Parts: sequence; C-alpha cells; structure tokens
Amino acid sequence: MTALPLAFDAPRRGMPPRHLADLTPEQARAAVGELGQPAFRADQLARHFYRGVTDPAQMTDLPADAREALAGALLPGLLTPVRHLSADGGRTRKTLWRLHDGALVESVLMRYPDRATVCISSQAGCGMACPFCATGQGGLTRNLSAAEIIGQAVAAAAAMANGEIPGGPGRLSNVVFMGMGEPLANYARVRRTLDALLTPAPHGLGLSQRSVTVSTVGLVPAIRRLTEEGLNVTLAVSLHAPDDELRDTLVPVNTRWNVGAVIDAADDYARRTGRRYSVEYALIRDVNDQPQRADQLGRLLAGRLAHVNLIPLNPTPGSAWDASPLPAQREFVARLRAAGVATTVRDTRGQDIDGACGQLAAADRVGGVPSIAVATPGVEPTVSLGSEDSA
Ligand code: SAH
Repeated sequence: MTALPLAFDAPRRGMPPRHLADLTPEQARAAVGELGQPAFRADQLARHFYRGVTDPAQMTDLPADAREALAGALLPGLLTPVRHLSADGGRTRKTLWRLHDGALVESVLMRYPDRATVCISSQAGCGMACPFCATGQGGLTRNLSAAEIIGQAVAAAAAMANGEIPGGPGRLSNVVFMGMGEPLANYARVRRTLDALLTPAPHGLGLSQRSVTVSTVGLVPAIRRLTEEGLNVTLAVSLHAPDDELRDTLVPVNTRWNVGAVIDAADDYARRTGRRYSVEYALIRDVNDQPQRADQLGRLLAGRLAHVNLIPLNPTPGSAWDASPLPAQREFVARLRAAGVATTVRDTRGQDIDGACGQLAAADRVGGVPSIAVATPGVEPTVSLGSEDSA
C-alpha cells in the first residue's frame, strides 16, 4: 500500500543539496549538532528560513563566526528567480525559478481581498501526460526536493509580508499544489512539505489544514496513503470526465485507476476527514462539456461529500482544443446544480501571463520568447458563475 508503482518513480539525478527544510525539526537539530553547534541553532535557522531571510549577515542571533558555516550547510539557496510576471494589477504574480541543475519551475501568487494563495510546483515537468495540459506535454524532468517545494511557499509568504504585492503587507493564507507536476507521484517530499506548511513557527509556515489543497490526477494508492496520514488538508481530484471511455483519453492514468476507483478513494478520504473534496473538471469545447456529460457527472456525484470546480480550459499552444463557450458552461453548471451537486466555476487569474491552470510550462519559454501575451480583446478572462473558487 505504501510503495508507489515503479512507473511513477522519477529519476533521482539532479536532486539538490540537503536543506534544513528537507529535515524534520528533530533531524535539523541533529544536523546542527553534527556541525558542532547547540541544537537550538536549528530553531534559529528555521525561523530565518521560513521568514524568507536568505542573507547570513542578517541572521544576527547566530554567532558571527558560525553564520556562514551553518547557513552554508543547511540553507543552501535552491531557488533562483529568473523573472516575475505580473497581471491583474500586480495582484497575480508568476515567478519562474531556476533550480541548481538548471531545471525550471513556476509558481503563481494570487492575492484576493480576503486571502492570498500560492500555486506551487511539486515536480519539474510532469509524467502524467494529460493532453490538454501544457506541463504534461514536456514529460517529467525530476521530482523537486521538499525544500524546493517549500521554498516556493516561503517566497510567496515573504512577498506578502514584505508588501511586494499591491494592497500593503499581508499574509499568505493558502497553498494549492496545482502548479507543475503530480504531487502524489512525489509523495514523501510532498508529505514533508505539508508538515512544513502546517507546522507553526519556527519550523513551518503555520497555515491551516483547510487552506492547503493537494490536487491529483487520481493515483489511488497514494490517495489511500494520504487518507491514513491523519491530515485534514483539502483533496482535489482532477476528473475531467465522468466516464472511463473519455477519461482514458484526457487523463491517461485512468487506464490504471478508473473513475470508480478514484471516486471510491476520494470518498474514503472525505469520510475519514469529514471534509468534502473538490472534483476538478476542465470544460473543453465539444469534448467533455455536453449536457449529457453534465447529467452523468451529476448522477456520479450526487449524495457524495464532493463539490465540482469547473475550469474553462486554458488553451495551450499547439492544441486544437478550446474552452467551452459561456452558454455551454452555464448549462453544465445548471445541470450539476439541478442534480444537487455543489458547483463553482474557477476564475482564470493570470491567463495573460500563462499563469493560469495548466499553462505552466517553463522550459518552453526560456530563450527569449516573449512571455506576456496580449489578452484577446473582448474575451473576459474571469468567468464568475459561482460564489466561490477553489483557492
Ligand atoms: N497533477 C495535479 C496538479 C495539476 S494542475 C492534477 O492533475 O491535479 C491543477 C489542475 O489544472 C488540474 O485539475 C489539471 O487537470 C488542470 N489543468 C491542466 N491543464 C489545464 C488547462 N489547460 N486548462 C484548465 N485546467 C487545466
């Protein structure tokens, strides 16, 4: 039950040096001890790291002669910002990060009136090969280390705290694993990341469980493993079709764990945690947006502890697929609601900086290709048929 199928094991090559955030607090204290320092220095280092302090000179509570050695050994810089791209008046900010081996990943920070959400990557690339997703087209480069994943959230928290996002200094409140990669295919490191997100200072960001969302294609053994962890984070399942015939083509891993198996596992998660899960459904014109599919999805989910989060497809370069037109979206929503299924439509923040769902494909855009596309005139990027989004 605990071992994931070999097919999802990513190459180990390229993994970065060890970092404090890869370690549990106990392991961090032991590591500091091995460097000949008292264990409480681990707490001091952690406090700096989670506050986004990177310059050892600013770590003035550490003895001057030990700062460089401690920071050098346990806080190696793992994420180098290549560029930030902003949209929505600066309230959406996408960052392209370069990792120590040259791999590129992206994260997106979105500030709303009542919260700030960062969408983080768990892998460089992705091996799940969903044909409508930009990341899926490039394949998997490697898993990110826990510290590389955590670092994206820490950077977002620091950007909020430092007032880098319009609206004044604020707090990062939400994290969604909806950037590049399949988080449950990098299970152990994502598990460590969850601890770091949820643990209060100094060894974490102290977020609440309900404001952290793990999104998966539906790796059933890993969902079951997550169910056993005793966490209450929000689970999102990327369904995209109510029937196996279509889902086999949209989410290829469906041939291994089908709709019924995924829904079963998500139901068990909901039963154990008492928290409803999200069913993610990208609405693709004439592919999965037909009224009868809405009815089928409604029948599938009625009475379950689930809600549907519809995402108008963000078209990816080179794909023939397009978002469902507004009337089709409205019809889909109406039919799901008529079936008694709670349904919302995701806003598509950051679309014009390729920062919206499924558009993160960093490798395609290095080398000088302009990154900010002009928003299509007359296209309203934010569709708001529901009362909330999933963030
Ligand atoms: N591997 C995880 C996280 C992926 S991204 C997962 O599959 O859940 C988060 C969500 O964005 C997923 O539901 C994914 O299916 C969706 N998505 C991917 N490409 C998209 C696109 N082009 N338009 C809209 N949603 C997309």
